[in-house]
Amino acid sequence: MPVNALYRDDFYLSTAEAVVTAIHEDGGIELDQTCFYAASGGQPGDTGFFERADGSRIMLGQTKHGPVKDIIIHVPLEGEPQPIVGEKLVLHIDWPRRYKLMRMHTACHLLSVVCPYPVTGAAVGEDESRIDFDMTDIIDKDEVTAKLMALVNGNYPVYVQWITDEELAANPDIVKSKNVRPPVGLGRVSLVCIGENSSIDSQPCGGTHVSETQEVGSIYIAKIEKKGKENRRFRIRFGTPGDEA
Ligand SMILES: [Zn+2]
Repeated sequence: MPVNALYRDDFYLSTAEAVVTAIHEDGGIELDQTCFYAASGGQPGDTGFFERADGSRIMLGQTKHGPVKDIIIHVPLEGEPQPIVGEKLVLHIDWPRRYKLMRMHTACHLLSVVCPYPVTGAAVGEDESRIDFDMTDIIDKDEVTAKLMALVNGNYPVYVQWITDEELAANPDIVKSKNVRPPVGLGRVSLVCIGENSSIDSQPCGGTHVSETQEVGSIYIAKIEKKGKENRRFRIRFGTPGDEA
């Protein structure tokens, strides 16, 4: 059943009420609505727990999409109790983890501003994220860190702008980062914009983000690795370069 994905309109929603609409053979749970982000676009799915009427908990190990995007499957940890269809639950995201993923995801967008090269891969992690760029230039990681922190400290607003596939086709310049292919075909595309009037960046993205760049906090480029002749892998971590040792 199509789910109402509440996180799309509120990245800061950490808890919500929902009703079980289906249980899969493998134990996966579908709900009428959810604040649990389903893994996609390089951002891992949420973990956390469901609270039942009697106060007991069902611990969740993963959240993922079904065969289509409007199906979200909540996967309980091994051995957890199974709810029944129609049961009401209170959903609780592991918020400290999710908030780190939001800070990291926004940091990845900032890195694509500092390094405007085609992106060939990306993975957002709670401790470290990586982005692969199609590039041959040699870049100093401390210089990249300094530019990243200037954007963080500039405290630019981060917000979502929904546009239709037609609007996107008619105004290709809306997308400032040319290195991410817009996920057209769903009728509408969410653009994650940074800065007033997207002055810093705008790119198609369905992930969850902080609302101003300052929330990203201290980050640094821990490593730039050479992966093949024209591929460079950047690793972003929380903290400052001195933390590396
Ligand atoms: Zn993104």
